[in-house]
Amino acid sequence: MIYPFVCHGCGHKWERGCRPSQLPAVIHCPKCDARAQHDYSAKFSTPQVGDIYRHHESLSMAVHPDTIPQYRKFDRTHGLDVEYTKKGRPVFTSRSERIRYVKAHGFVDRDRYA
Ligand SMILES: [Zn+2]
Repeated sequence: MIYPFVCHGCGHKWERGCRPSQLPAVIHCPKCDARAQHDYSAKFSTPQVGDIYRHHESLSMAVHPDTIPQYRKFDRTHGLDVEYTKKGRPVFTSRSERIRYVKAHGFVDRDRYA
């Protein structure tokens, strides 16, 4: 895991990789040597598991750009409000939205049970 740290003295922020069990309780700032701690509020600089579903453009379920209005209409009748890129790729903002889209459009999801 990569953990973000923040210094209480100078506000310096940095990241350090270590095992969760080896996360130090007290760590000192590499710049001013003041006490620092794990910055729970920091956003990770590297993608984390699940991030892909907050903005997931599907290539395999893309539609022809000319047919986007028709697909948007179809989506609305199925309770979906999915955006499409100019190239016709549907953009999912959550995993559940993608699953509902897969079912509504009759696709088979081979990366999922049931
Ligand atoms: Zn510092």
